[in-house]
Parts: sequence; C-alpha cells; structure tokens
Amino acid sequence: MALIVHKYGGTSMGSTERIRNVARRVAKWHKAGHQMVVVPSAMSGETNRLLGLAKELAPAKPGKAHGRELDMLASTGEQASSALLAIALQAEGMDAVSYAGWQVPIKTNDAYTKARIESIDDARVRADLEAGKVVIVTGFQGIDGDGNITTLGRGGSDTSAVAVAAALKAAECLIYTDVDGVYTTDPRVVPEARRLLRVSFEEMLEMASMGSKVLQIRSVEFAGKYQVPLRVLSSFTPWDIDLAEEAASGTLITFEEDEQMEQAVVSGIAFNRDEAKVSVLGVPDKPGIAAQILGAVADANIEVDVIIQNLSKDGKTDFSFTVHRNDYQKTLDLLKAQVVPALGAADVVGDNRICKVSIVGIGMRSHVGVASRMFRCLSNEGINIQMISTSEIKTSVVIDEKYMELAVRALHREFDLDRTADTISA
Ligand code: ASP
Ligand code: MG
Repeated sequence: MALIVHKYGGTSMGSTERIRNVARRVAKWHKAGHQMVVVPSAMSGETNRLLGLAKELAPAKPGKAHGRELDMLASTGEQASSALLAIALQAEGMDAVSYAGWQVPIKTNDAYTKARIESIDDARVRADLEAGKVVIVTGFQGIDGDGNITTLGRGGSDTSAVAVAAALKAAECLIYTDVDGVYTTDPRVVPEARRLLRVSFEEMLEMASMGSKVLQIRSVEFAGKYQVPLRVLSSFTPWDIDLAEEAASGTLITFEEDEQMEQAVVSGIAFNRDEAKVSVLGVPDKPGIAAQILGAVADANIEVDVIIQNLSKDGKTDFSFTVHRNDYQKTLDLLKAQVVPALGAADVVGDNRICKVSIVGIGMRSHVGVASRMFRCLSNEGINIQMISTSEIKTSVVIDEKYMELAVRALHREFDLDRTADTISA
C-alpha cells in the first residue's frame, strides 16, 4: 500500500464519459489498497474558452488588476472538473472529496497567471486519506498571501500534481496524458522514435527545456528539487487493465541512474524552432562589451540562450546570441537604437529561420567524442552548424531551419536510437 498521486490532463477529463473512466481507474487503484490523491486539469478546451471570453471584453492588459481577474476566471475550469470527478467517484460507491487550491491551501506568490507555489498544507488532505477517502485537488491554481486566487501558467496542473506529491511524500506521481510516454524524439518527425522506459530526471529537464512538450518544465524542476518519482503514461488504456501492467507502463522519470541508462550515449533528441539569431558586428573588443550588449537585452526582459563571441581581428569582434522568436524584432530594434551607437559597433544582423537541435544523455558524461560524432554526422548530411552550446549531458547546435528534420533523423540513426535496448517500440 502506498500514497499515490494521479494527474489527468484536459483530454482525459474531456467529457463526462471520460471522467467516468478516470473515476473507475482511480477506484481500481484505491481498491488495490493505495491512498489516492487526484489532480485534474480543466476539461479540454475549457481554459482557452474562458480566456477567450475575457479577450472578447478587453485586450490582454499587463498589470495586477487584470491578471487577478484572469486567474479568478481560469481557475474555475479546474474547480468544475474536480467536482465532476468527485461526483463520478461517489457514483462508483467511493468516498471522495474535492478541494480548490485555496481550501488546501496551496500557497503561491502573487504573480498572477504565472504564480509560483510557496507551500502546501498537507493536514486536511492527510486526514481525509486516513479516513479512507479519495482526495481530489484542483490543478493549476493556488492562493496568494492576500487571499486572492492565482494560477500557475498554462500547463500548470503538472506542477500542481508534482507539488502535491512532494508535500505528501507520495511514492509516485503518475501523469496520465494523451501520449503514452517520453520518446527518443518526436515520432511525427522520426517514425522510428521509441518510447523510453526510463529517463533520468536531468535528461528530462534538458529535454523539457529544449522543446519536448510532454511535461511543463516547472513540474520537472519541482520533481528534481523534492525527488518525486514521476511517471508519464497513457490515459487511453482501458480503465480496467491489470494494475501491475499499468503501474509499469509509460516512462519513469527517475533519480536512480543505473548502468543500463549510462550505456546509452544519447537518450533523446530535442529540437525547436522557437529561437532567432542576432549578431552585433564589428564590436570593439574590450572588457565589458558582453555585459553591455546582454545587459541592454536583459533590461528589456528578453531571455538569451546560446551565446558566441568570435575571435577578434584588428581589435574588432562579432557577438552573436539567440532569443525567442517572439522577441526577435524587439531585440533588433533595441540593439540598433541603443547598443550600436553606444558601442560604436558596425551593424546588427539577424536570422529568424534557424532551429536548435540537441542531443541529450547522461551517458555523455562517461563517453568521449560524442559531440564530434554529432558534428560529423551533420557534416555528412551537408548541414552547416552556425552555433554550438554544450552542458555536461547535452550538446546543442543552431542550424538553418530547413534542415531540421534531416538533422533530427540523421542523429536519431547515428546514435542508434532506432534500436536501443532500453526502449520498446511504440
Ligand atoms: N487548464 C490549464 C491549461 O490549460 C492547466 C493545465 O491543463 O495544466 O493550461
Ligand atoms: Mg499538459
């Protein structure tokens, strides 16, 4: 018997029929002797519908007053789905109770629409569990220090579930979703992509930040901080499948790295088209230039990712970095208006038709030559590398966006991900 947290995404909660299936699945786990806490998302489309209504009345406005009301509004989606699930469980003869974030309470800061969880009081939930109840806690929401309802950002129910699991020291947090696990890469790009049986938490963090959309990145950070074992699995299996089989399905995100995991040099390939490249040309090469260029960018609240500075020639150098594509024009304008004149640089140029492709794997720690193998593979395909960045378990390259799929497929093959022992085919 263990304390288990289940999280169900919007698709799993998408109709009363699906909610009934969730209830039956949860009841099955409870009857097997587990203490069950369930964190649902809003029914699919509901958050978009609610925020759409707000938009009809007023354009999105920065500022606390508007943000507060958006959270008041959007949080109702999860309140409804949680109550419906409790009703469905009761209809299955279970003792079940649902709580909104403020009733637990899940305390957050007051950054409306993207609040961060600060603490969770586990007393009420624990008392209910001891009394044999299934407890449902709304995803996506909390309450700030002044008693205002907050939400955690889109996809935030993942983070709610992990945080609740951490607070309750749950044995495992199962994220039921519309994909059946974490793949070596996106199967829409590489049909040979395989589901990973296990992935280390660090790899998952890199993959989530590199463009894999399976989990909200903050939920992975949270899981890391509190060592919550996470499992991503399909909610489309029949609710009455064998519990042991279900409990071993999907992908386990784990803190225990075993030998087998390290043997795979690369575990996954991530990619995204979200970035754009900006270069400041002919910058006088003297102390402080990086700080001056990137300082101006940071002051405008623009996040910078890959950075390179060229070797200087005749006391001048070129300085390049990537930003989110949505910030591309803003960055160019800002550099032209402020930085070029202040530094006496020659020009600013940019390219927003780039993509970033990354190989990720804890095996990179113990294998040499992984990056050069990546570069050789890309060069064999005639793909030019524009920028490179590395960490202990990841190598990323920036290339022309038109080669993205070619690069991902070639790398998937190069690192034997089409047929790795620790994976099973989809
Ligand atoms: N319902 C929220 C959203 O759509 C939170 C979530 O589903 O995780 O973003
Ligand atoms: Mg989601």
